[in-house]
This record gives sequence, C-alpha cells and structure tokens, in this order.
Amino acid sequence: MNTNRCDYAKKCGGCRFINESYQKSLEYKQDYICKLLKQFGRIEDIIGMEQPYFYRNKVNATFGRDRKGNIISGQYMENTHKIIDKNRCLIEDEYADEIIAYIKSVLKSFKITVFDDRTKYGLLRHVLVRTAHETGEVMVVLVLNSPVLPSKNNFVKALVKKFDRIKTVVINVNDRQTSMVLGKRNINIYGKGYIEDILCGKCFRISPTSFYQINSMQTEILYGKAIEFAGLTGKESVFDAYSGIGTIGICASDHAKNVYCVELNPEAVRDAKENGKRNGVKNVRFVCDDAGKFMVKMAQDKEKVDVLFLDPPRSGSTNIFIRQVSVLRPRKIVYVSCGPESLARDLKMFQKIGYQVKKIQPVDMFPFTEREHVETVCLLSRKAQV
Ligand code: SAH
Repeated sequence: MNTNRCDYAKKCGGCRFINESYQKSLEYKQDYICKLLKQFGRIEDIIGMEQPYFYRNKVNATFGRDRKGNIISGQYMENTHKIIDKNRCLIEDEYADEIIAYIKSVLKSFKITVFDDRTKYGLLRHVLVRTAHETGEVMVVLVLNSPVLPSKNNFVKALVKKFDRIKTVVINVNDRQTSMVLGKRNINIYGKGYIEDILCGKCFRISPTSFYQINSMQTEILYGKAIEFAGLTGKESVFDAYSGIGTIGICASDHAKNVYCVELNPEAVRDAKENGKRNGVKNVRFVCDDAGKFMVKMAQDKEKVDVLFLDPPRSGSTNIFIRQVSVLRPRKIVYVSCGPESLARDLKMFQKIGYQVKKIQPVDMFPFTEREHVETVCLLSRKAQV
C-alpha cells in the first residue's frame, strides 16, 4: 500500500494525481501524447518509474515571510506569488528538503534576512539544492539579493557539519526583478563550485547554472532509448544540438566516429569540455553557439552529418535550424523533447523537408506532474528519394 500522502496537493497544484494512483497519472500523460502525436505514427507505451517518489535531484525553495512575519519556504501556490510553506515534497529529494528546512530554521540565528517580494528588501531569495544520484554529492546555491552574506564562514561551517554530503556552496547574486530564479554571477564560498555525477557509466561535472536532467534514473532510460534509436555503428558523424554539459554527445561518442556538441550557455560548455576530458573522450568537439547559427555554418562548410540528436528547450527548435537540416541531410534524426506541443509542430516541419517519423517513445521524467511534462524520444529517418 502506498503510504505517501501530500497535504499540499490542492494548494500547490503541481501534481494532479499525487494522492491517487501513479497508473492514472501515466494514462493521463499517454492519452495526451497520443492525441498530439498519433498523426505521426504509433506511440509506444510511456515508460514510468517503479518508485515514482523523491526523484527530483534539483530542488528550489523560495524564501519569504508569512503574515505573522515567520520565515517560510517552498514553492509558489499555483498561479500566484504566494509561497506555500512546506518542509517536504513527495517528488523532491529528501536530503535536499532536509537541508532547506535546516537553513530555514537557522537563518535568524545567523542574522540572514529573507527577501520581501513587495518591498524588495532582504537578502535570501531562494535556496537551490542539487544532489548527484550516483555519487551522492550535493551542491547548495544560495540565491541572494546582494553578494554579501553575513556570518558567511560560520553559516557554511554549520551547514557542512550537519550535512556531510554537501561538497560545494555557491552564492548566486540575483538583484533583478524578474521571475528567473538564478542571476548571472556565482561566487563560490565552499568546495569547487560544482558537483560530479555518474550517468550511463560516464562522469559529469555540473555547475550551478548548467542544465542537468532532474530525474537521473529516467534520464538513463531516456538516453538509452535515444542511443538505441540512433543505431550507431562507430562510423557515423554525429551532431548533438542543445547539448548542455555534453551528456548525450559523450554517451554516444563510444559508438560514433566523431561528435559535435553545440550549446548556447557558456557555463554548460565549460562543463562539457571538462566532461570530455574526464571521460577520456577524444572524438567530441564542443562548440558554444546558438544551435541554428551553428547549423548554418556547418551547412556552409559542407560538413557531413549522419545522425543528428537534438534536445531543445520546451519551446522546441527553430525554423532556421530545421531549414539547415534539409541542407545537411542527416540519415537519421533523434529528437528528444520535453515539450510535446513544440515537438508536434517541429515533426510536421521535418516531414515537410523529407523525413519520416519511425518511432515515438514517451518517458515519464516527472511523475505525477501535469500532462505536458513528458519527455519523448522520436526517431526520424530521411526518405529514400529526397
Ligand atoms: N541535452 C542536454 C540539455 C538539454 S536542455 C541534456 O540532456 O542534459 C536544452 C539545452 O539547450 C540547455 O542546456 C540550454 O542552455 C540549451 N539551449 C537553449 N537555447 C539554445 C540555442 N538557441 N542554441 C543552443 N543551445 C540552446
């Protein structure tokens, strides 16, 4: 019997079926994907998790005060700017939640104020905790309104004494009035400024602002499917577009002749280059550029590409990118998507330029969340005559 029960479900609104059944949640997602994508072919059954709880390796808690002035932390209530005060969430890593609850309980004694959304005064805006699934390493990012943290040394000392898995603590300065959690500047105040994790047998370094999939167990399944669909033999030239810290490209490199990884975020590219070295990978090049612009250059230089992986943000790819695909003409495309609607739009475009959708595999990366939060791996192949 499932003894997990979320008392915040209604207020939070993030997990529709959290107090019902996981099976129902999976069916809801499968139906949605089928409605959107059945025009392209058969949809495989969504791959769910055996233990669909506590999977989020990245936990972000927003800090504030309640009406009585008590410090609170948690997520915003659905469609509002009101914070739900909670110490535990059934989909978040439990160790991360313990760290956040501890920080909340000691802020006062360290004279660390919390940011007030209305007056714009106060220091601590968010605490972001990243946990590495395989190595157990933990990163704590304190998102502050200014770079100066009172009692910094004592605070960090207390934190790492209590939680020995914490390997690094970073201050992220965010003094802007936007809904973005992280600002641009990171100040490393403990450890190396990054953590390391093992994924698909490879080692990856992860910095505070680099993208890293939030459910490591399902990521291994997702990448496994992507690489299986690509059917690499060791002879192919491969592109990994929107490559983040190089995870897909590095995992594919064992089975390819050479790989180009292209990614826009410089911090992620720095991680990716280090990750190439860590794994002794010699056949992967990492490029910091807009994926569309990169494709234009590659097409101008008449670069050869046999297999294209693309894993864009939720908004999907762009017309420029897809137009260049029709010039570069890879034999296969493996599209990894976290946005089913943009995926449907882009698949239509790929069909127009002569590709056929061969396989569609949804993977539940975010159990219990809304139906559009599904990862889907699609295999496309170039039609023979074009
Ligand atoms: N494949 C990686 C990252 C996927 S997330 C993984 O599985 O971990 C999408 C990535 O696209 C992010 O790292 C983001 O920084 C990057 N990105 C966003 N817009 C981009 C663009 N126009 N060109 C290249 N990369 C972009």
